[in-house]
Amino acid sequence: MQASKGLLAALALTALSSAVQAADEVVVYSSRIDELIKPVFDAYTQKTGVAVKFITDKEAPLMARIKAEGENTPADLLLTVDGGNLWQAEQMGILQPLGSQVVKDNIPSQYRSSNDAWTGLSLRARTIVYSPERVEEGELTTYEALADENWEGRLCLRTSKKVYNQSLTATMLETHGAEKTEQILKGWVNNLATDVFADDNAVIQAVAAGQCDVGIVNTYYYGRLHQQDPQLKAKLFWPNQNDRGVHVNLSGIGLTKHAPHPEAARKLVEWMTSPEAQSIFADANKEFPANPNVKPSAEVTSWGEFKADTIPVEVTGKRQAEAIRLMDRVGWN
Ligand code: FE
Repeated sequence: MQASKGLLAALALTALSSAVQAADEVVVYSSRIDELIKPVFDAYTQKTGVAVKFITDKEAPLMARIKAEGENTPADLLLTVDGGNLWQAEQMGILQPLGSQVVKDNIPSQYRSSNDAWTGLSLRARTIVYSPERVEEGELTTYEALADENWEGRLCLRTSKKVYNQSLTATMLETHGAEKTEQILKGWVNNLATDVFADDNAVIQAVAAGQCDVGIVNTYYYGRLHQQDPQLKAKLFWPNQNDRGVHVNLSGIGLTKHAPHPEAARKLVEWMTSPEAQSIFADANKEFPANPNVKPSAEVTSWGEFKADTIPVEVTGKRQAEAIRLMDRVGWN
């Protein structure tokens, strides 16, 4: 009797301590690379003692894995890029509302799901890159104007298979409707200097190398290449400053539907949207903080101020299927 009572007590203690242990960790499935997220999670662990475990993979397999794991998923949070991807995760039913007033106070509503399924953490502009040698800054005005005849044979684009271009197209559909957007995309395809590229770096390098004069890319790719080569023969331009503004997308995070540690996960997200974490996270990838009270790094600030499109980023998901069909129809490979 004595022994088994002791054993029970020991078991109870073990159960209790493993429960405490479990609450003191958060598991993140991340499509962002280790170098970007590890400093943020390390800072959080140092501050709170809460361990943050993460695995990294591309967003599609991570989302499929959360779906397949169902109630048994070890994942508390899904961290990925682009409103189009986060919206997909929301549609798959693998997220639950964050339910945090702190997050709502820290991040403007245009950068969050209207169903509270995810929040933006950092922002990136998808803007025009140009050759200062072959383009006068005054020649550039809007994304739409890159469809004009004077850009024939001068434009470089990334493949339409990448969600970034699908999201940009989705926002144009929202602004202009299908007919006008189709005309614009046809003009872009018609103006291509060469086949589409696999990534944004290749577009910037093609502009710098003289293969084309203008392209459309995410700002942080420019930042990385410019850091490697300060003499890079390419510059950023902020289009649509007299109308809707520059297309801004995000990286963001959502709480999984069957998160084992929802409270701890919520606290981590709240901290990630706070000024303290926002700088670490945004600066690591040369992005803009999603919390408007936090200033971007000196380097990002040096690209100049611009007016950003105020369309809710979730539009990129809502109109994604339509965007893909349209890009296909105009022959954007
Ligand atoms: Fe990227």
